[in-house]
Amino acid sequence: METNPCNKSVNGGSTIPSRVSRKTKPTDTIVNINGVKVGGSEIVVIAGPCAVESREQLFETARSVRKSGAHILRGGAFKPRSSPYSFQGMGEEGLKLLYEIRKETGMPVVTEVMDTRQVEMVAQYADMIQIGSRNMQNYPLLKEAGICRKPVLLKRGMMATIDEYLMAAEYVLSHGNEQVILCERGIRTFETSTRNTLDLSAVPVLKRLTHLPVIVDPSHGTGVRWMVPPMAKAAVAVGADGLIMEVHYNPESALCDGYQSLSLEEFDSLMCDLRKIAQAVGREILAPKTTAI
Ligand code: PEP
Ligand code: MN
Repeated sequence: METNPCNKSVNGGSTIPSRVSRKTKPTDTIVNINGVKVGGSEIVVIAGPCAVESREQLFETARSVRKSGAHILRGGAFKPRSSPYSFQGMGEEGLKLLYEIRKETGMPVVTEVMDTRQVEMVAQYADMIQIGSRNMQNYPLLKEAGICRKPVLLKRGMMATIDEYLMAAEYVLSHGNEQVILCERGIRTFETSTRNTLDLSAVPVLKRLTHLPVIVDPSHGTGVRWMVPPMAKAAVAVGADGLIMEVHYNPESALCDGYQSLSLEEFDSLMCDLRKIAQAVGREILAPKTTAI
């Protein structure tokens, strides 16, 4: 029998069968975010600002990314910042703005939860809850996300192996929620020319080991605006089921992650290029939804 040189065991060598494994479920899981399906042959694009900063900033950005063909709106209301003095997010006010523009544009919304006490409230406003890189191994939060029946966007921890990542997803599935999307967002290495090292090899590895959809975040993966388009295209080429990208109507004035945010024009032009790459690999970018939420 051929042995795997990379020792990818999916469940840490445990004999307990894992729910995330393709061995347990060979067919691809489709995650349905209020009508937008991730994990099929069509590629889904999530776009929006890193953080919700104001009504004008969110609404202008959302309307524009929708026009360019984005399917789901992102925007953080609770931000995990390295410094306690940096902008922490608008909290529930930000969630209310997301809810309002979600109705107008018809785009479902994804936003981050950082604490078990926030899950219930965030789930009232959002269509999908995001568990960020820093919380990938926050087991109480993973359990809570499992109990909550909203789809979950689980980002890879910046120091997590593929096995650790899949076991984190296993927490959500084993608590009753199979609607989980995985997201490669870069890992910490010795390299300093990028914010993180975007591990695109994680995409084919994950697609082989698990039935869950896999998307890529080239914004946090590179940390540099001009590197986002090439890495987004590469992600589609290696088989990602979708992308999540930061877009801001005025990146220079952003309160968070402006240096890695695309302008509205840059995002629009990238969407055109992505359609060509998708076709070249036998896929398509999902047609924008026309029905209201
Ligand atoms: C984000 O998506 O805004 C974010 C904080 O991402 P990550 O958890 O991957 O750093
Ligand atoms: Mn960000």
